[in-house]
Amino acid sequence: MTSADASPAPTAFDHSGHPRWPLHPQPLPGETLMSWLARTSRLYSLIGTADLLDGLGVDTSGVDLDRYTPEPVLSALAQRSTCTAERLREMTLAGGTPWLLDSTDPGGCDFDTYVHQFSVLLPAGLARSDRRRRAPPAGTWLPWVSKLDTRACPLCIDDLDTDADIAVMMAHQYPMLTMTSCTKHLCRLEFCAVIPGRLVFWDRTPPGSDEHAPPIPVPAVVAEIDRRTAVALTCGSVELGGGRVHAGVWFRLLRTVVDEVSTPLVRTGWWAKPLSAIWKSTGHSRPLRTSWVPFEQLRCDEQAKVLFAAATAINAVENDEIAASGADACLLRPRRYEPVDPGAAPTRSRSPVPARSAWDGVIAAIDAAVAAARVDSDAARSLFGFARTGCRTEDDVDELAYAFVELGIRLDWD
Ligand SMILES: [Zn+2]
Repeated sequence: MTSADASPAPTAFDHSGHPRWPLHPQPLPGETLMSWLARTSRLYSLIGTADLLDGLGVDTSGVDLDRYTPEPVLSALAQRSTCTAERLREMTLAGGTPWLLDSTDPGGCDFDTYVHQFSVLLPAGLARSDRRRRAPPAGTWLPWVSKLDTRACPLCIDDLDTDADIAVMMAHQYPMLTMTSCTKHLCRLEFCAVIPGRLVFWDRTPPGSDEHAPPIPVPAVVAEIDRRTAVALTCGSVELGGGRVHAGVWFRLLRTVVDEVSTPLVRTGWWAKPLSAIWKSTGHSRPLRTSWVPFEQLRCDEQAKVLFAAATAINAVENDEIAASGADACLLRPRRYEPVDPGAAPTRSRSPVPARSAWDGVIAAIDAAVAAARVDSDAARSLFGFARTGCRTEDDVDELAYAFVELGIRLDWD
């Protein structure tokens, strides 16, 4: 007989020397830490999440546990449940570092590095001065993190077998401004208030009804972006036209396009034409505040329009429908099959040899190696190893690493 069966009305403090909680539901896939704690406390009479935390014997005051959970709290929670500290960390925003964001401390997130490491639609140097207008003061910004709003898919909630499984999902709530739709039902996530394990109050409820309003389908391009984000979150990488990229590349690339479609047309010269075509095809005009307010600080309706434009732009680049001159547009475009020339047997020819420098081949080979290294970790490692043979000092190696970063080649794969 388990300790849970022994007590019909257990309390979380019944462990009498044994630190494990008698009842502790398993976290649901994608659930936040606080949602799981709330569902756990539901299993006990007369106690809430705060009582569970008080009983841990470690200080949790003033800490937003869904954002960052200190290690002593994680290990105390791991001892009280059957989850590992590692699994519990994944249920917080800190579990998304360093691929979704560099740090949960705004002091550790540099706007320019995150947003402008890549360029897709616009040449890298274009509108550089304009970008500064959207840059938030240092130490005040986290990528993709906005004010706390809970969202959920009404159809996913309808599908649950039991109210006990009603939970707050990290991808739907906290940091993931990138996700606006349910990847299963392809409908918009709806704003709501969730009481984990019990019920959901929908913001958009028909008058006089406790049912939710009919779900709103999202455009196919937005659903596709959300699908990739979900894959990146769960698999750590995502397949793009140019090959598989690390989740960290995907989130930065997407944030780059979000910033590029936010650029005022007047700042983009010739490139105003494709940008304007993107906005026109969404059926919305660019919210004016996007010129000087970072995406994370826009209103929800403005964010949805910008994400729609970014998704449209990515789709157009992938289908070669617009001119994109950013250095990293190649990550989105399908990689063309390029057979290696087997060469020709040397023959003596009487015809004059065309004037051609041996460097033509070398330069083409370097370009190809750099393009491959941008999307392939093995190619990046090989190229770095090859180039490193010319380095004589540690400073030379640093210079080389910097040159790789400038070329958009990541050196911190896996
Ligand atoms: Zn759903």
